[in-house]
Amino acid sequence: MKNVKKSYGQDENLVHVLKGIDLCLNKGELCVMLGPSGCGKSTLLNIIGGIDSCDEGQIFVDGKDISQMKEKDLTKYRRFHLGYIFQMYNLIPNLTVRENIEVGAYLSDNPLDLDYLLRVLGLYEHQNKLPHELSGGQQQRTSIGRAVIKNPEILLCDEPTGALDYRTSKDILGLLEDINEKYGTTILMVTHNDALAHMADHIVRIKDGEILSDQVNKKVSIKQ
Ligand code: ADP
Ligand code: ADP
Repeated sequence: MKNVKKSYGQDENLVHVLKGIDLCLNKGELCVMLGPSGCGKSTLLNIIGGIDSCDEGQIFVDGKDISQMKEKDLTKYRRFHLGYIFQMYNLIPNLTVRENIEVGAYLSDNPLDLDYLLRVLGLYEHQNKLPHELSGGQQQRTSIGRAVIKNPEILLCDEPTGALDYRTSKDILGLLEDINEKYGTTILMVTHNDALAHMADHIVRIKDGEILSDQVNKKVSIKQ
């Protein structure tokens, strides 16, 4: 990202949410972006994910500036290159676990095998249940499945453990680490929870729409 700026509102209600973000993520890294609530993390994630636009600046993904893309190309980018995991899971309530994950497979030209993934996610025995019959951890596993079945190059995670207890969170984070290792998926996870920094190859701290610190650990350079 080069000098990415974003404001909301007008005149006296104008809020500068992102004040010129410069950031470089390496292919295959697991980046954790930390910052207090309201500092602009979700906005940044949504801009990288092509579901929100910036006012100024450029976002190059694999050399292509997505801030200049037409809606049709943005749709392709979202569909074939990205997986998105939300804090509140966003599952379709009247589809089973299996069907919710299957939805992701239709949005990919290169999907992972559904039965294989259900096993990896520990959801095989639960595949015919509806979301309301699942624990929070199982719901989040399902939403991870829906994103990961696309075998995306980039996985964007917005507080993926925000609604889960400590043990279940650890389990979900372990799963994201496995996905990063196994498939070489570039992961960007935003959270207000400092305790998640330890798992990162790359730690970015944000405050009031600006980068406070940007630290790449050695592990990434070995991977490259
Ligand atoms: P975080 O994810 O770090 O909690 P957000 O990116 O969600 O922060 O929000 C950053 C700031 O932008 C907040 O002050 C929020 O109120 C404001 N904001 C976010 N989205 C909108 C919007 N659609 N309209 C107006 N203000 C917004
Ligand atoms: P390893 O990490 O030891 O190379 P994996 O965990 O990737 O092994 O694979 C375990 C088993 O699952 C292997 O038999 C492999 O062929 C199978 N497998 C891996 N990925 C897929 C996939 N996308 N679809 C179907 N089977 C798969």
